[in-house]
Amino acid sequence: VAEAAGPQDTAFEQALRPRTLDELIGQERVREQLALVLDAAVARERTPDHVLLSGPPGLGKTTIAMIIAHQLSAPLRLTSGPAIQHAGDLAAILSGINEGDVLFIDEIHRMSRPAEELLYMAMEDFRVDVVVGKGPGATAIPLQIPPFTVVGATTRAGLLPGPLRDRFGFTAQLDYYEPADLDRIVRRSADLLDLGISAEASAEIGSRSRGTPRIANRLLRRVRDYAEVRADGSVDHAIARAALDLYEVDDLGLDRLDRAVLDVLCRSFGGGPVGIATLAVAVSEERETVEELAEPFLVRLGFLARTPRGRIATAAAWRHLGLTPPAVPDT
Ligand code: ADP
Repeated sequence: VAEAAGPQDTAFEQALRPRTLDELIGQERVREQLALVLDAAVARERTPDHVLLSGPPGLGKTTIAMIIAHQLSAPLRLTSGPAIQHAGDLAAILSGINEGDVLFIDEIHRMSRPAEELLYMAMEDFRVDVVVGKGPGATAIPLQIPPFTVVGATTRAGLLPGPLRDRFGFTAQLDYYEPADLDRIVRRSADLLDLGISAEASAEIGSRSRGTPRIANRLLRRVRDYAEVRADGSVDHAIARAALDLYEVDDLGLDRLDRAVLDVLCRSFGGGPVGIATLAVAVSEERETVEELAEPFLVRLGFLARTPRGRIATAAAWRHLGLTPPAVPDT
């Protein structure tokens, strides 16, 4: 499930994206707070405060940014932190902003420091000085920007420098979804795909989706393939279970990467502590993938703990792998 999203995945995700706050499932508190922010802005005929959304991948940050633009009837411009490496990249984007635009910056914590500084000036004063040239000949050209709204998304708000974080008037921390919400998301998606699915099957897919709507939709797609090829196309409980087992998604939703991380931690490192970089090398993955996809979920399940000396496996993790946890020495 950690594989990069291909173009097909992207088209599939687009088709299933809720378009309004009412269509968004779960995240009740965020939905209610955001509705207030947006309604107030519309009533005042002003642009709303800048919005910061944080949380693990696949929980709906991009979806919410699109909804914000939709509810404001404003155009959405999309960019991402890694695409803004120079202050000039950002200046080019800002110079094209029209009044009321929503600028979505995904992975905002990965912008370069000079770009970050330019951004928070723009967010605060709607005006920046663009420095052209170098050395004694450099000149600062003031650039006036019409009022606009930044929606930033980050997997960890803690990575943003304080001054930038402070420019966001509204911040929302997205949480993993409850099984009941995921069940509803699966049923909604199945409806949109014209796919027949039983209540047990949608609940089963929901409960193995690691609290993540993107994964729920992806698993549904795999289950649909299975149902079309090996059965009559509709999904009952047995088909859902067989397909999920085939794709190595276990009862708790752990996928191959999650299990590899636990396996390496317990079998190769005696349960830890071991540093995240070492762990990533041991499972042949990027550090970010382990840190952003596998780790938060394993921590949430109580299988992995972060300590100052590194990651450790809990007794529950050993047992989930069918191993006996080592005896804890008295200290
Ligand atoms: P992020 O930007 O946080 O990585 P996305 O907004 O791209 O996540 O969401 C991933 C997929 O999950 C989207 O295709 C969307 O259809 C679905 N999704 C996310 N949140 C919800 C939700 N609250 N209700 C229904 N579907 C959702």
